[in-house]
Amino acid sequence: MPITEVEKIWMDGELVDWRDATIHVLSHALHYGSGVFEGIRAYETPRGAAVWHLDEHLHRLARSAKLYHLDIPFSHEALAEATKDVIRANRLDACYIRPIAFRGYGEMGVNPLLAPVNVTIAVWPWGAYLGEEALEQGVRIKISSWRRNGPNSLPSAAKATGQYINGVLAKIESLKAGYDEAIMLNEQGSVTDGSGENVFIVRGGVLTTPPIQAGCLDGITRVAVMTLARDLGYEVTQENLVRTDLYNADECFFTGTAAEVTPIREVDDRVIGEGHRGPVTKELQGAFFAATKGENEKYASWLTYVNA
Ligand code: PMP
Repeated sequence: MPITEVEKIWMDGELVDWRDATIHVLSHALHYGSGVFEGIRAYETPRGAAVWHLDEHLHRLARSAKLYHLDIPFSHEALAEATKDVIRANRLDACYIRPIAFRGYGEMGVNPLLAPVNVTIAVWPWGAYLGEEALEQGVRIKISSWRRNGPNSLPSAAKATGQYINGVLAKIESLKAGYDEAIMLNEQGSVTDGSGENVFIVRGGVLTTPPIQAGCLDGITRVAVMTLARDLGYEVTQENLVRTDLYNADECFFTGTAAEVTPIREVDDRVIGEGHRGPVTKELQGAFFAATKGENEKYASWLTYVNA
């Protein structure tokens, strides 16, 4: 999806012009994938732009950094302020937010510990990740022939740049085969997640999503949707799923910061339910978007207002 350029990017403590936010070709992270990042959204509300689950995203960034012994030279509070600053500087009502902390320029070789750490936060307007029509019609997915990296090879607990090359393989395969997205199984054959989304199924009114120990990312939208579903009276379980659990589900959907709540209408050419967004998915989407827009007081603490 093309990036819509805006004016400023926050780079190591300063707001710089979009075009000046560049790094050296010998930066460590470019060669060895040694960066950790987040994907966050800010939504338009009657009180201006509000960042969805900002603290949770910054906590996950800190956990990813810890795993790779990468010391982020800015505090949680400084990064939260920087996020609000860069949204204000670009006068955006709603946007995608991409913070990244990475090993920069100065050292070559796999050892990352001596390379400097750079931190940037970019924001830009970004629509529905899998397409606007996908939010209603749903997407067609393929179970990838590529397995999700296990927790003892590349830890799914971390959102690290290099780890995404696993999802890149799966995404390419699914697109080349004519699907919209891939779901990866782990080495044991259990469902993990999409290349950038967590997966849920609905069976007899019960929601099930794989446990994070299956190897999926500890998605922030996943947790929010589990809470919204329970608050609406649904039972929600975390259980290992095999691919036929997806084929036989009444409904199936993705969650993710970029994908939000996107219905899955086909898995490996098997039509799921009625072949379009099911009633439970629709209800959860409604609850999700109401909360993001600040329309439900119950979830007020999930939003950080940029102009507060
Ligand atoms: N799984 C993977 C592999 C992802 O990259 C993402 C996006 N960060 C997700 C799941 C969804 O996580 P979140 O809801 O925190 O965006």
